[in-house]
Amino acid sequence: MGNSKSVAAWQKSQQFIPGGVNSPVRNFSKVAGTPRFMERGQGSKVYDIDGNAYIDYLASWGPLILGHAHPSVVEEITHTARSGTSFGAPTTRETELAETIVNAVPSIEQVRLVNSGTEATMSAIRVARGYTGRNKIVKIDGCYHGHVDYLLAKAGSGVATFGLSDSGGVPEDFARNTLTVPFNNADAVRETIEANPDEIAGLILEPVMGNMGIIPPRDGYLQELRDITAAHGIVLIFDEVITGFRVAYGGAQSYYNVTPDMSCLGKIIGGGLPVGAYGGKREIMRCVAPEGDVYQAGTLSGNPLAVTAGITTLKCLAEPGVYEQLENRAAALAAGLAEATQKHGINAWHSRVGSMLMLYFTPETVTDADGARTADTERYRHYFWGLLERGVYIAPSQFEAGFVSLAHSEEDIDTTVNAATQVFSVVRKAFG
Ligand SMILES: *Cc1c(COP(=O)(O)O)cnc(C)c1O
Repeated sequence: MGNSKSVAAWQKSQQFIPGGVNSPVRNFSKVAGTPRFMERGQGSKVYDIDGNAYIDYLASWGPLILGHAHPSVVEEITHTARSGTSFGAPTTRETELAETIVNAVPSIEQVRLVNSGTEATMSAIRVARGYTGRNKIVKIDGCYHGHVDYLLAKAGSGVATFGLSDSGGVPEDFARNTLTVPFNNADAVRETIEANPDEIAGLILEPVMGNMGIIPPRDGYLQELRDITAAHGIVLIFDEVITGFRVAYGGAQSYYNVTPDMSCLGKIIGGGLPVGAYGGKREIMRCVAPEGDVYQAGTLSGNPLAVTAGITTLKCLAEPGVYEQLENRAAALAAGLAEATQKHGINAWHSRVGSMLMLYFTPETVTDADGARTADTERYRHYFWGLLERGVYIAPSQFEAGFVSLAHSEEDIDTTVNAATQVFSVVRKAFG
């Protein structure tokens, strides 16, 4: 399997683009190697510029729940493009996507379309602050909400710490209003609220953590957060940029039956084009300009191509049996991987919610970010390269989820399990 064209492409891209990539995770720095430059995708597979084919579990980091180049999506966006790609004036398609989202997602009565998940979370928090007249935000250690300045805060030890940013270029003052607590720990949220009475505008979290691998909420956790925030007039925001239309049509809030005040969407609702959205109760969304005084805007927001890809994708997901198929395929993959790790005596924690799954190389039970951090990234590196060489593409980081799509066949799953089984014998040898 050659990769000379990817090597040359990366050498060149590094001259003109920082790190050679337009989003840091695409760089293979966490697995020490050269990123593969992709040429095309079709169904469950991607093909790099050296002609190698891979069964793809990255799914462009989540959006491609239908697989690559789904015929209906391609046809609809091609058709739309012929009538103009942007107007800067309203179109009925935007209303159609908004209506579909409102009908699907329990917490959303009104929704504003934006261009990325980052914009969605940033705007939702601005609205929560405008609505409550408070400044502080509580976030969860290990939850990622895009590259918003004050959400790049990291947790320290102890129950709750004032956020220090993980990123350069973020003034300490920006992170000062961000309080961080561990996942699956409602007491930490209670204590933080008590220590900051009437100062907290919102609590934002991924209802299923999807950016430290996959960490499901323990039984009752989301409901406890719902009760605590309601009691203190704090806006509960579910960041469903990954989980929306992924774990269920109505997202994690319908899967776990807990309704937040606001929700953020992205990834799947753009069907592979750049879209984000934030929405919530009518009473809260009334704060957004031009109706209210919380300003938020976008030249290309509600872009016809992106909205068309989103509408088409959501139509496909509304078909009967779709989530059962995703569940069955992902369950088969998870079971195959669990059997393979057991067979080779590999310490592993397997985690899965619907079609999102994760294998941590750790003997620990992973229930929060600290648990995830015990994973052996060296082992993951071996696992990653072993799979890549065998034609299976997973995220180039231990802490990024795998996604099963509707395009994955039973044969794809079998091929993947066989490849993993071979790799585990190598991984075990590599570590004695
Ligand atoms: C990907 C992601 C974001 C950011 O979305 P972008 O479109 O990359 O800006 C926000 N929140 C979560 C949970 C995500 O997974």
